[in-house]
Amino acid sequence: MHPESESQPQTTDAAPSSSGRFSGWRLLVEGLTGQRGWSRAWAKAAPRPRYRVVIVGGGGHGLASAYYLASRYGITDVAVLEQGPIGLGNVGRNTTIIRSNYFRADNIRFYDYSLKLWEGLEQELNFNAMVSQRGTLNLFHTEAQRDLFTRRANLMRLLGVDAQSVSRESVKALVPLVDLDNGRYPVLGGFLQRRGGTVRHDAVAWGYARAAARAGVDIVEHCEVTGIRREGSRVIGVETTRGPIAADTICLAVAGHSSRLAAMAGLRLPIESHVLQAFVTESIKPVLDVVMTYGAGHFYVSQSNKGGLVYGGGIDGYNTYGQRGTLPMAEEVAAAAVTLMPGLARLKVLRQWGGVMDMSMDGSPIISKTAVQGLILNGGWCYGGFKAIPAGGMTTAHLIARGEPHPLAAHFNLERFAAGRTIDERGAGPFPFAH
Ligand SMILES: Cc1cc2nc3c(=O)[nH]c(=O)nc-3n(C[C@H](O)[C@H](O)[C@H](O)COP(=O)(O)OP(=O)(O)OC[C@H]3O[C@@H](n4cnc5c(N)ncnc54)[C@H](O)[C@@H]3O)c2cc1C
Repeated sequence: MHPESESQPQTTDAAPSSSGRFSGWRLLVEGLTGQRGWSRAWAKAAPRPRYRVVIVGGGGHGLASAYYLASRYGITDVAVLEQGPIGLGNVGRNTTIIRSNYFRADNIRFYDYSLKLWEGLEQELNFNAMVSQRGTLNLFHTEAQRDLFTRRANLMRLLGVDAQSVSRESVKALVPLVDLDNGRYPVLGGFLQRRGGTVRHDAVAWGYARAAARAGVDIVEHCEVTGIRREGSRVIGVETTRGPIAADTICLAVAGHSSRLAAMAGLRLPIESHVLQAFVTESIKPVLDVVMTYGAGHFYVSQSNKGGLVYGGGIDGYNTYGQRGTLPMAEEVAAAAVTLMPGLARLKVLRQWGGVMDMSMDGSPIISKTAVQGLILNGGWCYGGFKAIPAGGMTTAHLIARGEPHPLAAHFNLERFAAGRTIDERGAGPFPFAH
């Protein structure tokens, strides 16, 4: 059964009106008539004094939650408050990788649900998000790693999720640039998930914002939340740079700013903020048509449709709210790149940037009620929250609408930290740098 099918109450018709619908025919007509018929993708809403639900943070998770609240649960009295313009947070800064090749069964189910939603997302949102299921290939370099990946692949297959082991020779056939016998960590083989791939990140934010607005949600940009108002143990609204707004439910979906916002409501979260960098090289001819990760270092790379290699590594390792990174990590990531593919040494890096990551203490996300009544948290996404946007949005919407966790996300509750039931997907312990 489709995991969502048992939890779909009143479904509203979120389909865009014909005047704003994208189609091949429309493109042709607009092309022939001077492109004068397009309207704004979403209205620039001014905040109203009161909403049933206020979502703080217009990133992927905030926008997706709002969209599914309106389209699946019939709740349209919703505002998304974003301190800047839509799409400039982590949703527009990541390396765009989607996959569901996790180790724990509950995580495989959650992330594969997300992958299934990605597969139909462009049709649902009527927006070209360039979903590209080009495959994700994890390389392994030791027999122990081979065992781990084999166990992971077997578990995924038992749950009906695609995964396969590939030989050294197949790795070379898939990515001819790889130096299998590189002096540091020779490649023994790979672990491939064909349905993994990439999605154009900022198109995801724009697509959800457009669809949510068309379903009746107010997308309020340039509206920073500066305080959370409480009456006793429950929230009653937010203070913003555009005035106070009352709400029955407030959902924090602010990624790297989760701890700061939760503190406004008097909560201390098991989340640290860290910077993670990404890099893009100059454009070259097609050389890489899978997403590849390096099992002996923290390095992942894909080639964008424009031809640049998009790559990244680990967090810089210190707490910060700065959206930039340090040279030592840039050097470490570049070293991994040229170890694996020496031919890359001659490429120029065109752009580099950073995003503020909400690193939870067990490396897993939090979709949960909190000790403050009416305050919901969607956060702790660490490196991996982009791929989770559709499922994160859907399950957060379920939690808000139904008042109880969605079965696929019930394990992401906040109480697990106090109860010692942490979700240590990597078996790495409570250290953000190890996740
Ligand atoms: C370099 C990099 C590479 C990554 N690569 C991947 C990847 O390949 N695959 C993957 O799955 N994940 C990846 N991630 C992680 C992923 O991008 C994040 O986990 C995910 O985008 C976080 O959720 P979000 O989109 O809702 O966050 P964001 O887009 O950051 O949204 C949070 C929003 O809250 C807003 N906000 C903050 N404070 C306030 C306030 N006081 N008032 C109002 N608004 C506020 C911010 O402006 C921001 O727009 C990567 C992240 C980075 C930085």
